[in-house]
Amino acid sequence: MVNRLELENKIIPYKMLLEAITTTHELIERILPEQGIPSLKYGLKYLTDALQDQIDKAGEGLPVIGHHFSFQTEYLYAFDCVPICIEAVSYLMAALLPEGSEPYYDLITHWGHPFHTCSSQKGTMGMTLDGLFQFDAIVTPTAPCDNTYASYPYFQYKEGIPLITPDLPFLKEEKSYDYYAKQIQLSLNDLGKIIKQEPNYEKLKNHIEIENRIYKTQMDIFELKKAIPCPVENMFNAMAAAASIFLSGRPEKEYFYDDMLALAQKRYKNKEHHGGEERIRSIWPYMIIFFDLAISEWLDRELGMSILFDIFNYNFADPIDTSNLETMFYGMAKKSMEAPMVKQSAEFYYPFIDECVRLAKEFSADCFIFTSHIGCKQFGSIPQILREALRDEVGIPMLLIDVDVGDARFASDKVIREKIKIFAQTLL
Ligand code: SF4
Repeated sequence: MVNRLELENKIIPYKMLLEAITTTHELIERILPEQGIPSLKYGLKYLTDALQDQIDKAGEGLPVIGHHFSFQTEYLYAFDCVPICIEAVSYLMAALLPEGSEPYYDLITHWGHPFHTCSSQKGTMGMTLDGLFQFDAIVTPTAPCDNTYASYPYFQYKEGIPLITPDLPFLKEEKSYDYYAKQIQLSLNDLGKIIKQEPNYEKLKNHIEIENRIYKTQMDIFELKKAIPCPVENMFNAMAAAASIFLSGRPEKEYFYDDMLALAQKRYKNKEHHGGEERIRSIWPYMIIFFDLAISEWLDRELGMSILFDIFNYNFADPIDTSNLETMFYGMAKKSMEAPMVKQSAEFYYPFIDECVRLAKEFSADCFIFTSHIGCKQFGSIPQILREALRDEVGIPMLLIDVDVGDARFASDKVIREKIKIFAQTLL
């Protein structure tokens, strides 16, 4: 008979993350003053609860289902299972462990996977190669990038894990949403056969409705960011990105957003900035640096630079109509196809440029900082065009940083900070 510990050990990286988060949270509670970094404090608290719950469920023997971030975590709550987002694990490890996910990038590279592919996937691939994850099945849509579609077959061909691949269309049209709605439903049926469970749509509906409720709070916080100074600290972006996966469809996500809204409203009324004085308002249209979250705090406090939002914090899916299965799956399809990064990476760049120009004006941005991530080849052509559009249409500059957001060895935190510091001097 398999014992509880063996079952829990199907998700060893979750145990590593839990330990890292618990230690960091304890330090924050004990060392930082009350007004410390509230988003980090709230975020880590709720992440601790969610990770512990998943470890417990793995220990009970629930199947472990890997998934790409564009197949929303809450969709997997149609089953009694432990959902693990391949990309989120790599980057949360990068953020919280001293060496990040780097040992696992190296493992998978030495196995033969190309070094220049996306570190968001390479980390979990390396952990699986090392025996730290034992997935019962994995779901990944055919998007948003070549990295995704070229990396996931590893799990099937090397590890023998059943791989389900809903076909995600590129065109953002009604017929695509209808088509993808069916693809999601078929995928859940296929997954059910593998793990020997019937999808429970009533349960799924409950989790989707939690997300629907959070939407309004998210929009209220987003609106408050238009204020000068911005009443939301930079660290919120990282915590919200983590919450969008690890707390997806769970009550803890609701609590996190409620806490953050109350804080932002208070700061807004008092015209308070987390770092003391806001000198520069920046938008990061792609990702922030996951391997060094401290950069966010350093920007707030040392440079007075607000990160108004990154890619995970300006794309919001409309609430899903759960009145019947047809509208529910349609809404789920739309949410997946317009998810952060899927939306931007799986279409031509015109809408992205237009959106950046609009956001720059609406949020009174002083500059953009574009992190050109080595994995994102499909996005490599955009920076120069975006820079010209921002200069011509808004009159603001853009800093371009070549980086691997999950691997400090490509461009270190020191190099990145230096670049931003010099750029900031040109703005003041
Ligand atoms: S879109 Fe970019 S960051 Fe996202 S998975 Fe693909 S390569 Fe990685």
